[in-house]
Amino acid sequence: MKCPHCNHTFALTWKEYFREIRGRHSCVACKRRFKLSCSWSYLAIAVLVALIIAGLATFLVARWTHSRMMAAGGGLVIVLIVLLPLDRWLDDHWRKSAPLEPDKPES
Ligand SMILES: [Zn+2]
Repeated sequence: MKCPHCNHTFALTWKEYFREIRGRHSCVACKRRFKLSCSWSYLAIAVLVALIIAGLATFLVARWTHSRMMAAGGGLVIVLIVLLPLDRWLDDHWRKSAPLEPDKPES
């Protein structure tokens, strides 16, 4: 992630990802808050991958177990296992950061 205030680049950790699941982070260098913008490209990638994985996972689990309940549960678990690392990667590398509060003029 890149801080929009001081342009410092730092990695998004799992701890920070889960602590700030809404995409509002603090810069490790200047400590100022910023948010990650929710762009159409980010939503498109996340939804598309989720649908593809959900479809594949449900189909495969249903074939193995012959149970609709297992397919739905297994599909959901597999989607989360794939989607969480992808979402964290997108937060870290894809989504643009923007200042959370308006920039105050320097005095
Ligand atoms: Zn900063």
